[in-house]
Amino acid sequence: FVNTPYRGRFAPSPTGLLHAGSLTTAVGSYLEAHRHGGQWWLRMEDLDPPREMPGAASAILHTLEAFGFEWQGELAWQHDRHDLYRAALDQLIDAGYAYGCACTRKEIAESGLRGVDGTVYPGTCRHGVAAGRQARAWRLRVPDAELAFDDRLQGHYAQQLQRDIGDVVLLRADGFWAYQLAVVVDDIAQGMTDIVRGADLLVSTPRQLWLRQCLGGAVVTHCHLPVMVNAAGEKLSKQTLAPAIDAANVVQPLRDALARLGHPVPAYVQTRDEIWQWARQNWQLTQVPAGPIVLA
Ligand code: GLU
Repeated sequence: FVNTPYRGRFAPSPTGLLHAGSLTTAVGSYLEAHRHGGQWWLRMEDLDPPREMPGAASAILHTLEAFGFEWQGELAWQHDRHDLYRAALDQLIDAGYAYGCACTRKEIAESGLRGVDGTVYPGTCRHGVAAGRQARAWRLRVPDAELAFDDRLQGHYAQQLQRDIGDVVLLRADGFWAYQLAVVVDDIAQGMTDIVRGADLLVSTPRQLWLRQCLGGAVVTHCHLPVMVNAAGEKLSKQTLAPAIDAANVVQPLRDALARLGHPVPAYVQTRDEIWQWARQNWQLTQVPAGPIVLA
């Protein structure tokens, strides 16, 4: 048994600027990596040009630097990594795990199957595309079995993959790589050992663990930090108009993020660097609430 050194990451999508929720996730994953004497990498998940906001990637980097985050390794950009995703899809097709799908969104919706994360694909093309039709997307076959794992913060979590999720899109009909494929391929290729991210992604984790298994990836741990919600219970995001973090004013947002993670910073700790030093000395996952956290 080899004790693999800890390697974690923060993987923002440049669909908007950093807000209180994404900053809190960055702070938690950073401190958890430091607590383990590990590395913390940064990966820009710029896979979905239609949803991206011009300038968001560089603004996110600038904000992270202003907060004093330091990352190891080279900053990875998903737009540079298409060959890796292609090779993984080919591997899955060769092994019989992935198949072409000709169904339209409308046809899938008409099946009326609902799971825990939206519509469940009814499996129409599982055994081949009907004569005269063309594959538009590629999907991962999921087993008719329960997939469970123990999250370091949220505890035991299980899904019956076929019933709750259905066969997962890997390459979308519009030609873009699906988040689910890219994130797993990158986490394997970059040797991530410990994934710390927002609890909005908990629902995606069982299918990602299955995909990881199909690709022969090593074992990883997961820790899903509390999501921030507004007074209406909606997750903070660009869609719910969460205000962007201002890179010119870092001390209070850093204090706020730590307080939400169960680590209120004492008043005598004042500068950015003192706050980080205090946080690195005092960070304990057992103090972090599972959430969700309501922001007034
Ligand atoms: N890019 C994803 C997001 O911003 C996060 C992916 C991950 O941490 O696994 O929601």
